[in-house]
Amino acid sequence: MNDQDARSVQKFMDGVVLRNPGEKEYQQAVGEFACDVIPFVNEHPEYQNHNLSERLTEPDRVIIFRVSWEDDQGKVRVNRGYRVQHSNAIGPYKGGLRFHPSVSLSILKFLAFEQTFKNSLTGLPMGGGKGGSNFNPKGKSDREIMRFCQSFMSELYRHIGSHTDVPAGDIGVGGTEISYLFGQYKRLVNQFTGVLTGKGLSFGGSAIRVEATGYGTIYFMEDMLKHKAQNIEGKTCLVSGSGNVALYATEKLIQHGAKPVTLSDSSGFIFDPDGFDMDKLAWLKDLKEVRKGRIAEYAKEYGVEFFAGQRPWSTPCDLAFPCATQNEVNAEQARTLIENGCIGVAEGSNMGSDAGAIAVYREAKILYGPAKAANAGGVAVSGLEMTQNSIRMSWTRKELNQHLGDIMNNIHERCVEYGTESATHVDYLKGANIAGFKKVADALIAYGVV
Ligand code: GLU
Repeated sequence: MNDQDARSVQKFMDGVVLRNPGEKEYQQAVGEFACDVIPFVNEHPEYQNHNLSERLTEPDRVIIFRVSWEDDQGKVRVNRGYRVQHSNAIGPYKGGLRFHPSVSLSILKFLAFEQTFKNSLTGLPMGGGKGGSNFNPKGKSDREIMRFCQSFMSELYRHIGSHTDVPAGDIGVGGTEISYLFGQYKRLVNQFTGVLTGKGLSFGGSAIRVEATGYGTIYFMEDMLKHKAQNIEGKTCLVSGSGNVALYATEKLIQHGAKPVTLSDSSGFIFDPDGFDMDKLAWLKDLKEVRKGRIAEYAKEYGVEFFAGQRPWSTPCDLAFPCATQNEVNAEQARTLIENGCIGVAEGSNMGSDAGAIAVYREAKILYGPAKAANAGGVAVSGLEMTQNSIRMSWTRKELNQHLGDIMNNIHERCVEYGTESATHVDYLKGANIAGFKKVADALIAYGVV
């Protein structure tokens, strides 16, 4: 970055920090974006004089509400609900709901911001939003979760709609929660519309939506490897997390002949030196999706080691897939990964790597697929769920998997177009930031001052 660009980024970020005090995740996401987009704008007169960076860092609106619900003991509980409607420049607000005790305005603003550019990259007509609550589903009974979801939707319903804002799942919000939320929406508005995605297959859901984020992350890594005349077969892979993104990334790795050896949860990680196979994965799916157990139970069942309180990044590998949560890889862990032979990282989780880790990947010029490109497969299939709901038809698994693969290829090509630094190196973060920004910026410019 030249001096003039560095000064414009600094000046812009000073304003962002001033306007969003204490919101460190939001400042981090904007900072990552500004370092690529501001120099691009400085070089392209057609994007100047519209104050696009400032317009795109002020969400269209933020809705915050109280969620009161009754627990199994009859006690009244209160949580905070949010929906950040970041931008509907290129389509209705679209993005997941996260139920986790760590949820804050800063986290949801960062997620909604990233979602806008991720959704733009998919090529589908979707704006960006995100919502959720500090409600902790862990340890709650099914009925408590149902009552919470119904109460949450009793406020949210007035702000969403199939052409306005279409929420979906994220951490802590899976098929069960989406079903409760959809059931309550339908009851309140007396309409059956595609207002949520990730629905059950019998009421408007799409095939491969559950698998899409994880599968898409692996497709994106395969595209990056192919661009370097390599492939994924035989590669030892670290996966973190054990939610649907991690489990289906693992499934695709197994199907494509790679060797995934780790998974984790907030208590620690398991390392299976022989790698997971389809039988072990079936056991893991039952553990996480049906029994809602902890990942440590795998270590007991299969006689492998469980590393309490640790993340998997010190295990030697060829490829790493952070699929748990934001900022799960720092600079030191990134250095360890590279020293141990890692040649590529693709993020299934949003902002899985912190700013220090990204600097390390960039310096070492390893393959780095940032979340907004690498994990866009989930929301892409959500977009296809919206299409299927609109035309009142369902596509087959095969058709949807084909669409998903094509969309990930296309995102990869866009990153190469805007992120190629030399004959041998693509900066995928830069490519994703600029390609994602351009489409939204073109729409904003066309609308005039909005
Ligand atoms: N929460 C997912 C994401 O981060 C999916 C959102 C959606 O399907 O709308 O992209």
